[in-house]
Amino acid sequence: MLVIMKSQATHEEIDAVCRKIEEMGYKAHPIMGSTRMAIGITGNQGPVEAASFESLPGVGECVPVSKPYKLVGRELKEDTTDIDLGDGVHIGGPELAIIAGPCAVESREQAYKIASAVSAAGVRLFRGGAYKPRTSPYSFQGLGEEGLRILADVRKDFGLKIVTEAIDVESIELVDQYTDVIQIGARNMQNFSLLKRAGRSRRPVLLKRGISATLDELLMAAEYILSEGNYNVVLCERGIRTFTDHTRNTLDLSVVPAIQRLSHLPIIVDPSHGTGRREKVIPLSRAAIAVGADGLMIEVHHEPEKALSDGNQSLHPYEFEKLLKEIRQIAPILGRSVAPNPPVR
Ligand code: PEP
Ligand code: MN
Repeated sequence: MLVIMKSQATHEEIDAVCRKIEEMGYKAHPIMGSTRMAIGITGNQGPVEAASFESLPGVGECVPVSKPYKLVGRELKEDTTDIDLGDGVHIGGPELAIIAGPCAVESREQAYKIASAVSAAGVRLFRGGAYKPRTSPYSFQGLGEEGLRILADVRKDFGLKIVTEAIDVESIELVDQYTDVIQIGARNMQNFSLLKRAGRSRRPVLLKRGISATLDELLMAAEYILSEGNYNVVLCERGIRTFTDHTRNTLDLSVVPAIQRLSHLPIIVDPSHGTGRREKVIPLSRAAIAVGADGLMIEVHHEPEKALSDGNQSLHPYEFEKLLKEIRQIAPILGRSVAPNPPVR
C-alpha cells in the first residue's frame, strides 16, 4: 500500500506517518514527486489496513499497489526520477545523459586519451570497467583497484563523473569508494546479494538488463535496490539473446516505452553491447533517442583494434563525435537536449 500525502503536508506529518509504519514493524519509503510526497510500505506479509493511516493529519489517500513491485512503479511517483549527480550533471532530466568511454580501463594513457576525446565532444559521464565480467576466465579481467585510481584521476583532471561496474559483493566495497555511479552488469542483474548491497550505498546505481530478463524481472531487480533505501536507480537496455546472429544481441528498443509506462526510473540504452558491431552503434543510438530513452551508454576507444575487450563494438573518437552531432539534432524534436561542446581549453 502507498500512503499519498496531501501536497501541503508538513515534514512533521510525513515523519509521523513514517514512524507509525516503522512501529508496525514495516519499512517506510518516503519518495518525493513533483507535487506531493508518497510513502511506500515494504516488509509487510499481508495487506496493510488503510484505516490505520487515513485519519492521520496530512494524509490524502491510501492506495493499494496493484503490481508486484511497490517502489519502482509510477503509482508511487508520477514523474520520472531525475538523478542529480552534482555539478549540473543529471540522469533522467531534460538533458540526455550520454555516458561514454572504453569497455575496460586498460592503462592510464588509454583512459586519458579517451577521456580527453569524449569530454571535448561534450560528454560529462565517463565509463570504464576496472572489474570485467568476462565469458572466458582467460580474457582480460580488468585492472582492479589500479583501474579505479585511474578513473578517480580522470574525474579530477577532466571534471567527468565516473560510471564503473561492481561485479560482486567484494568489489562493490572499493567501487563504492571511488565511483559516482555503480554499474551492475547484465550477468549480475539477479545477483540479489549484490543488488541489496548496492541498495545500501548512497551512490546512484546503473542496472543493466539481464541477457534473457523480462521487463518484470528487470523491474523486480531494481526493486531490490530501492527496497534497501537507495531510490536513485537508472535502468539500461543492452540487448537480449535471441536467435538472431547478425548482431551480438538484439537491442529491444520497445522495452523503453514499456518501462516508461510502468516505472518512474530513468532508462538509457547501450547500443554497443546491444549490437556488438561498430557500424550499427550510430543507427541504433539514433533510434534509442527517437524512442524516448533518457540517455545512451557508448563504448569508445582511441585504438579499437588494439582494445583488450569489446574493440569490435567500440567507436573511434571521430565516429563518436559524429554520433553526438546527430543526437544534438534529434534531441530537440523530443524536447530534450545534449550538453554542448565545452569551450576549447
Ligand atoms: C559493460 O558495460 O562493459 C558490460 C560488461 O556490459 P553488460 O553487463 O551489459 O554485458
Ligand atoms: Mn564492454
